[in-house]
Amino acid sequence: MEALKALADGFGTTIKHLGRKPITEQYPEYKRPLPERTRARIILTRDPGGDERCVACFLCSAACPVSCISMEASAREKDGRRYAGWFRINFGRCIYCGLCEEACPTSAIQLTPDFEICKRDVLSMVYEKEDLLVDHGGKDQEYNFYRYAGVVTYARGKGEHEKEKAPVNIKSNMP
Ligand code: SF4
Ligand code: SF4
Repeated sequence: MEALKALADGFGTTIKHLGRKPITEQYPEYKRPLPERTRARIILTRDPGGDERCVACFLCSAACPVSCISMEASAREKDGRRYAGWFRINFGRCIYCGLCEEACPTSAIQLTPDFEICKRDVLSMVYEKEDLLVDHGGKDQEYNFYRYAGVVTYARGKGEHEKEKAPVNIKSNMP
């Protein structure tokens, strides 16, 4: 009986769609706008001052489940600020999970909706820093890690820094 009902449901759905106008999008002539948070091609962004946001902390590399991010840390001579001497992503292995973006404290690494990066030669899917680095801030143009971390730590108390919430009173959670 259940099998018959399943069969009837299946045919019912087919019949329901028979009279409908087909929706065919003519890709690549028409490119459907994708949500801003679509996870595809990865970029390395810059802070509002134009500096590279990446501080070569390796967190994205550690978070990546397929180990497709590698880099080498360097430091600027003038102020010791860290940056990636080289930075490499193997898009042939990337599964576009977005964990690297979640892990990044500086908002440097971001996934974008640009999915048209497929190539026949898998070796050309290895992107170097010069292929990844863009000249804008991506999804958050204003964020600057150094405005929030390190620089003002000694100037103010807990919960008094820019956009920082007041500390939670842990004793208030006790029964
Ligand atoms: S999107 Fe996922 S798989 Fe791709 S580089 Fe980031 S963490 Fe790795
Ligand atoms: S992209 Fe972000 S998480 Fe990865 S090394 Fe640079 S600062 Fe760290």
